[in-house]
Amino acid sequence: MPSYQTPITPPLDTPGGWHSADELFPLGTEATLPGTCDWLVIGGGITGLSAATRLGEVAGNDRVLLVDARPIGWGASGRNSGFLLDLPHKFDLETRDKDRLTRIMDLNRAAIDQMRARTQELSINCDWSDCGKLQGAVKERGTGMIRSYVEALDWLGASYELLDRDGCAEVMGTRHYAASVFTPGSVLVDPMAMVRGLAANLPQTVTLVDDTPVVRFGKARGGYVAQLRRSSGELVDIEARNVILATDPYTGQFGYMKSRILPTITFASITRPLTAGEKARYKGRMNWGLTPADAAGTTLRMTAEGRLLIRNHYAAAPHFCGEDHDLATARRAHRSGLDKRWPDFANVPISATWGGVVSLSGNHQTFFGALDERLYSANCYNGVGLTRGWSAGRLLADLGTGIKSQALDDIQAVSGKPNRLPPDPLLSVGANARLRLAQWQAGAEV
Ligand SMILES: Cc1cc2nc3c(=O)[nH]c(=O)nc-3n(C[C@H](O)[C@H](O)[C@H](O)COP(=O)(O)OP(=O)(O)OC[C@H]3O[C@@H](n4cnc5c(N)ncnc54)[C@H](O)[C@@H]3O)c2cc1C
Repeated sequence: MPSYQTPITPPLDTPGGWHSADELFPLGTEATLPGTCDWLVIGGGITGLSAATRLGEVAGNDRVLLVDARPIGWGASGRNSGFLLDLPHKFDLETRDKDRLTRIMDLNRAAIDQMRARTQELSINCDWSDCGKLQGAVKERGTGMIRSYVEALDWLGASYELLDRDGCAEVMGTRHYAASVFTPGSVLVDPMAMVRGLAANLPQTVTLVDDTPVVRFGKARGGYVAQLRRSSGELVDIEARNVILATDPYTGQFGYMKSRILPTITFASITRPLTAGEKARYKGRMNWGLTPADAAGTTLRMTAEGRLLIRNHYAAAPHFCGEDHDLATARRAHRSGLDKRWPDFANVPISATWGGVVSLSGNHQTFFGALDERLYSANCYNGVGLTRGWSAGRLLADLGTGIKSQALDDIQAVSGKPNRLPPDPLLSVGANARLRLAQWQAGAEV
């Protein structure tokens, strides 16, 4: 690694709309920081929170510092659609390697159990809902994909229920979907409430410092040194024996995985809660979630309190955010996506639209492991990082502290190295062309 890196600070863009921006204040300490720590965890998304929590459990009295550039909940982990997926999803299913898919299922299920236990133990109010999810198809292209998804589920021995148009309408209150597959093991959450709840309840040996970017990073005296810029403008150098880079799409900024991660933005909108009158007119159930049969299609949720969430569209995000006009375009597309499905609710306003950056790899591999001596990372979740990120964070802590387990074997077996990508602007131009083609091919599934 070259001597010092000067990572970009994640942009002060429009955060997720699960809660108002006023609720996104920093949770961490403003006290003077020690100049050294045993473990520095950079990134307070789901991966970093899981790693820090686990270090607090297994690393004895080691001092752990968890740092994030923005208040906890600002990044992708607080602005996603909130599906904790139990089954292999999207690119995972490109292979019929039963051993690999079973290991992914085991990791995801263990992550859900651990997250359930932790959120219950800490009484985190994140609308935890063990309600499973639908995978939905609008037209023939989608129903064809549903058929191959069902084949994969049969072959994996996973339980499911097939719904026709009437069955879909009974759940979702719209006849827009021709068919869907219900699988019972996924969980729906309010992701912003979940990550903020986890961060507010870290073990005693963990110090959280959020709203404080790492602005310089490199090796020093047998360990690593990170320069933090506190909100007061003060610059503080921290020396760490061990580092966990839980920075997902930003990992290249720290000098590792350079040219292997494609930061990609996807957009979501959420409405205000339906009123009592609107709920009375609504013909479906409350509290369900649907992911698209076609990966380029539309994710939907009806939350327990009656808010509709819609997510779709991808674009390369070399600067880790979208432009203002992208948000306006996404909002118009989301409005029309909702109106197509629920014309009766055309007057229900969208209360927030945002973009969030996920990391894609060219070969669909996710990375887990050591990137340097006593420097660990997990990244490139290809858009599905909540359960995998939780497992990875916890198991990075185990890897660093020498704890062996079947789960560690599993995550090592299913991880790989994202391949090298061409440089920008070639990368963004090529990626955008492919993403637009995928969306065009998805057609009515969007
Ligand atoms: C709209 C949307 C919907 C999604 N829906 C789902 C879903 O339903 N289910 C699912 O499984 N996945 C979903 N995802 C993907 C999921 O959110 C991510 O894969 C996951 O949150 C990655 O977690 P992470 O902790 O590894 O990274 P992140 O949450 O991206 O956290 C990385 C952190 O590093 C911090 N950081 C970066 N640089 C610095 C620096 N210089 N100094 C200090 N801190 C720094 C950032 O501020 C950030 O908080 C979705 C993503 C989006 C955007």
